[in-house]
Amino acid sequence: MSDTLQNTGCGGHGAASVTLDEALERIGESLRPVLHVERVPVRNALGRVLAEPVLASDNVPRHDNSAMDGYALRHEDRGLDSLRVVGSAFAGHPYHGDVRRGQCVRIMTGGVLPRGADTVVMQENCEADGHTLRVMSWPEAGENVRCAGEDLPRGATVLEPGKRLTAADLGVMASVGLAEVGVRRRVRAAFFSTGDELRSVGEPLDDGAIYDSNRYTLHGMLTRLGIEALDMGVVRDDPDTLRRALQDAAGYADVILTSGGVSVGSADYVTGLLDEIGQIGFWTVSIKPGRPLAFGRIAGSVFFGLPGNPVSSMVTFAQIVAPALRRLAGERAHPPLRFAARCTGHLRKRPGRLEFQRGTLGIAADGTPEVTPFGRQGSGILRSMSTADCFIVLPLEGGDVDTGEWVTVEPFSGPLSP
Ligand code: AMP
Ligand code: MG
Repeated sequence: MSDTLQNTGCGGHGAASVTLDEALERIGESLRPVLHVERVPVRNALGRVLAEPVLASDNVPRHDNSAMDGYALRHEDRGLDSLRVVGSAFAGHPYHGDVRRGQCVRIMTGGVLPRGADTVVMQENCEADGHTLRVMSWPEAGENVRCAGEDLPRGATVLEPGKRLTAADLGVMASVGLAEVGVRRRVRAAFFSTGDELRSVGEPLDDGAIYDSNRYTLHGMLTRLGIEALDMGVVRDDPDTLRRALQDAAGYADVILTSGGVSVGSADYVTGLLDEIGQIGFWTVSIKPGRPLAFGRIAGSVFFGLPGNPVSSMVTFAQIVAPALRRLAGERAHPPLRFAARCTGHLRKRPGRLEFQRGTLGIAADGTPEVTPFGRQGSGILRSMSTADCFIVLPLEGGDVDTGEWVTVEPFSGPLSP
């Protein structure tokens, strides 16, 4: 087993307690991004992770051009009473002559600045009478001109590898004439829920049964991260069935995710099996909700065993698994956006764990950001994740928070984004 997995046995009571940062660091160190690169048309690259730098093969824009509808002229002519309009330059229809002393050219937004001209005067600031133009208010030298290469200079790296491509990036690639781009192949994940009490939607609920919600939140979060996800359903709390499911998953997936069965209950088999067929690190991560997390490998697959409680599994996924999946996908690391907001309610917190309570962001009457905590913060209250739009991140050693105190907030993003 890798020495980055601090194993303490199969999920016993003495499982190593680590901070979130320690867990992230150890997991990060042990992961290697998927290597395979696919070439895809630019449109299909949305949400994919760029595998190579994108360079500007030419200046964007290619020519100096006008930012306004008006007249292209020579700024040094500003002492003259009037100018002679010698032609026009519309977008896509350049004026091919020179602009000489005393001359100007009618120009439209995007029209190439003709040779000799250096400045554009807005049409609102002049009076044209036939071919004669009187400039009522002279612009500064170079005003209203967009310079060649001011967006993307020729030869510049405009997109770095490791970027998850956005709509703007597709436009940037198109503006440098790129038709295809190299992206990393998608990470493949297989996931299932464990628990004899769990039923899938559509099945009848017999006595003591509940609907499995984790597979649906997991499906959503994996999809938001651009992962190719295989839903393996509910697996019963039975060692042989679980072993088979884990082995099937390992044959297919880069990452195996399970939820439930990582506590120390008598039906919690996951960590024991991992010890048998793979390598397991079982940690108590000092976050709330969350805490028990199994991390290891089965054959070539990375394994995450998430806690079963619906909020715990989402928080653990968002804070620990998502950064790991992004690293596997080849994405550059980016710490979550966090900032201060005033808390509109009292928060209960015991020192000893980093807490991710849920709240809703707003702006107070005086313009400061404020956060309203969701009333019930239990790890089974899934509605808190659905109603809220941010985490209220309460430091490990902190205690209760009074109404009006400043707290750190982290807007839902990545796997939790709408
Ligand atoms: P466990 O981690 O298996 O001990 O489960 C902890 C709690 O989460 C129990 O109340 C389970 O019934 C519940 N739970 C576990 N898995 C799921 C799931 N997939 N969907 C909804 N609730 C679950
Ligand atoms: Mg269970």
